[in-house]
Amino acid sequence: MTPPLVSGRLPLRPELSGTAPYGAPQLDVPVLLNVNENPYPPAPGVVDTITEAVRSAATGLNRYPDRDFLALRSDLAAYLGTESGVSLAPEQVWAANGSNEVMLHLLQAFGGPGRTAVSFAPTYSMYPEYARDTHTRWVVGRRADDFTLDPDHARAVIARERPSVVLLASPNNPTGTALPAATVEAVCEAALGADVDGTGAPAVVVVDEAYGEFRRAGTPSALELLDRYPNLAVSRTMSKAFALAGARVGYLAASRELVDALRVVRLPYHLSAVTQAVARAALAHSTELLAQVDTLRAERDATVAWLRGRHLPDGRPLEVAASDANFVLFGRFDERHALWQGLLDRGVLIRETGPDGWLRVSIGTGKEMTAFKDALVEVAGL
Ligand SMILES: *Cc1c(COP(=O)(O)O)cnc(C)c1O
Repeated sequence: MTPPLVSGRLPLRPELSGTAPYGAPQLDVPVLLNVNENPYPPAPGVVDTITEAVRSAATGLNRYPDRDFLALRSDLAAYLGTESGVSLAPEQVWAANGSNEVMLHLLQAFGGPGRTAVSFAPTYSMYPEYARDTHTRWVVGRRADDFTLDPDHARAVIARERPSVVLLASPNNPTGTALPAATVEAVCEAALGADVDGTGAPAVVVVDEAYGEFRRAGTPSALELLDRYPNLAVSRTMSKAFALAGARVGYLAASRELVDALRVVRLPYHLSAVTQAVARAALAHSTELLAQVDTLRAERDATVAWLRGRHLPDGRPLEVAASDANFVLFGRFDERHALWQGLLDRGVLIRETGPDGWLRVSIGTGKEMTAFKDALVEVAGL
């Protein structure tokens, strides 16, 4: 007998009924270009340091870890200082098991029943899930055809919806586009006037810089705005540029007041002693871990240029979004699923995501990008 549907027998929240867990297909194929990982594994010296740190942490695993992990927060503040030239106190930094958990903490602290979170589509598909999971009303404005965000539109949506949280990904996923500093400033200014619950409180603006290290020269980081906006949070991750997706470490920088609010909603000891040890060992090697970022940026720019020079069999040129990230969104295809499948049949896994007709490819090694291009020429008839 077939077992009954779980949702038929258990008191599942109605809004979860019939939903599937989020996630890209994890398939075992030779060329994995679907989840924006760094294709270069940690170098042997880094692996040694991480191993030593884990060995040492293991000797104390009978005890709970440091709940406030100020040593790790201090290392992260120092790293952000080097990367962006912005000086931060350890108390201005927060971390969790991936920036996804950081974002959930933000929604737990600042969203909730009767409150609204706003973002601008197309954008990261996890955002509506954080809102759903925290009973926060979810509203999406739009980005323009070239995926830029019109500051007037952003202001109008914030004035109309009075959100308590505004989520901006920059560089954005799945488009790769970064926001100019003036747009982030306009949103922060508008957020100051959100008057949440009629209390005069501003909305919290979250700039998700998961791909920040890949930004092109001249593209600023929202970290530079932190000293002007106590309602701004800039989130980063070790999953992408740092080549540490498997360790699950994300973090953010904000005012102390904002970080203190996140400390209230986190579960006790949410960051294990092993995770803290791995992250600190990796940060001690940040230069080596980030060594491939320039290679990946160059490969990204080459991929954008190559795609822009191709035409579909009917003569239409490919459309390619400007990218400050380690992936490229390109289209438009009448049958994107068939194309995605055709690439997969040739051992190349990319991502079927974004607006209809577009596909997203992560930047891999030179060899992997050649395999991608060869397969695409064959399948799309470029
Ligand atoms: C990959 C990604 C993240 C990072 O998630 P982690 O939980 O840190 O692995 C965050 N935001 C966006 C937009 C992403 O694409």
